[in-house]
Amino acid sequence: MSDSGRDRPPAPHPLPIPVADNHTHLDLSRDGDGPPDVQAVIDAATAVGVPHMVQIGCDLPSARFTVEVIESYAALLGGVALHPNEAPRLHESGELDSARREIELLASHPRIRVIGETGLDYFRTGTEGVAAQQDSFRWHIDLAKRTGKVLQIHDRDAHEDVLRILAEEGAPERTVLHCFSGDITMARECVERGYFLSFAGTVTFKNATGLRNALAVTPTENLLVETDAPYLTPAPHRGATNAPYLVPLTVRAMAAVLSTDVPSLCTALAANSEMLYGPW
Ligand SMILES: [Zn+2]
Repeated sequence: MSDSGRDRPPAPHPLPIPVADNHTHLDLSRDGDGPPDVQAVIDAATAVGVPHMVQIGCDLPSARFTVEVIESYAALLGGVALHPNEAPRLHESGELDSARREIELLASHPRIRVIGETGLDYFRTGTEGVAAQQDSFRWHIDLAKRTGKVLQIHDRDAHEDVLRILAEEGAPERTVLHCFSGDITMARECVERGYFLSFAGTVTFKNATGLRNALAVTPTENLLVETDAPYLTPAPHRGATNAPYLVPLTVRAMAAVLSTDVPSLCTALAANSEMLYGPW
């Protein structure tokens, strides 16, 4: 594995029951690191009880990479989409229609089980991009329904519009809010609608009391765990590069918030992933 000298957090204590990392980016690197060595990432994760990962490709190069890598590694399933920050750019440059055709083609691969990440990002994209984002979100909702795949949603500072558009379009049968960032009220609304809430390392952050409160009211039947690596590294390693082998830190933090034991939570997380994505 390439190592630029950044401190690599030590491997956490292995989980007693294997779980899946429901959302990771194996093609992305941070701050001049080379792209990760996929086999080494899988080996490190498997050694701590995270033998399964969903690789998410959210622009065309990354979606093509995703299809290649899921064909090579049994530990990986994939998701493809045009990210909410990518859609307005493609719209501007006149490349949106051809990009959609290619995503739809890549999505037909049997090991692509996710349409995502799509959704809304009002943090990175300004008001000029909102119409294109919303149109793109609706298109991906429809694609997930037509293909029968799981929808994974990116929601940054756009909770109300995400819920509104899902209600207007009719959400796919299996819908996941990736890196859930809402409050208690939103968590309850999502659970009522049958959505899944995927928690990332953010739930371990010191200032994330609102997020932990949202987790505390979410039934384990609606829960997933993810890294969103290489970002959102869980405490106490915030700032280091994230990778799937750090999932146990987030799982243990979630168990503490839920006042449940780690094996029971792992069993639920594993069952939920399998129910959503099917066998690896
Ligand atoms: Zn992501």
